[in-house]
Amino acid sequence: MQQNQFREPIDKLFECAAMLAQAADAHMIDDRETAATLIKSTNLVEVREWLDSIWGKCSPYVLVRRIESAPRLLAKHERQETRMPSAAQKRQLHLRDGFHCRFCGIPVIRKEVRALLHKEYPSELPWGKTNATQHAAFQALWTQYDHILPHARGGTNEMDNMVIACAACNFGRMNYTIEEVGLNDPRLRKPVKSNWNGLEHLLSKSAQITLPES
Ligand SMILES: [Zn+2]
Repeated sequence: MQQNQFREPIDKLFECAAMLAQAADAHMIDDRETAATLIKSTNLVEVREWLDSIWGKCSPYVLVRRIESAPRLLAKHERQETRMPSAAQKRQLHLRDGFHCRFCGIPVIRKEVRALLHKEYPSELPWGKTNATQHAAFQALWTQYDHILPHARGGTNEMDNMVIACAACNFGRMNYTIEEVGLNDPRLRKPVKSNWNGLEHLLSKSAQITLPES
């Protein structure tokens, strides 16, 4: 079976994004109590369960098949030296893809935005070392820079090989090619356009990635 994503996103993910947008607005006008309440209320068990069902071990949603012609797994020294795109390349990727996962389409938030909110609201937005101690919505909506041909299989960080993705779609795939896990090539579909801006307005002007008006 070919599909666009491992598992259909649940409505709660979109509801969390809408609530976090309200939290950001509240924070901007210094209504910290409202911001804190909203952030806390998006740390939801349903969201964690959705994410864990995809990126967890032996996910029933990630079915791997053998593809004879697939590039082999490279040894560490055979891989491209630079795995991740530079800050400038990431900016270009957002200008092209916006702030939605190119696979499942859910809204995403960069770690820079999360770090700012974590610092402001550490008890409502916990971000510890383990999965269980990280805020569920900020995990699920966590912006990833995903290699279509995995780095471990010879993929580069050129724009053509990279897409914006969510944590489930990125980590769920591990080092498999999209063909091996039966995903359609997201580059053949248009990126999702919406007024979701990844809460970038929380960052200082110089750190923001601002999408052009469409
Ligand atoms: Zn996704």
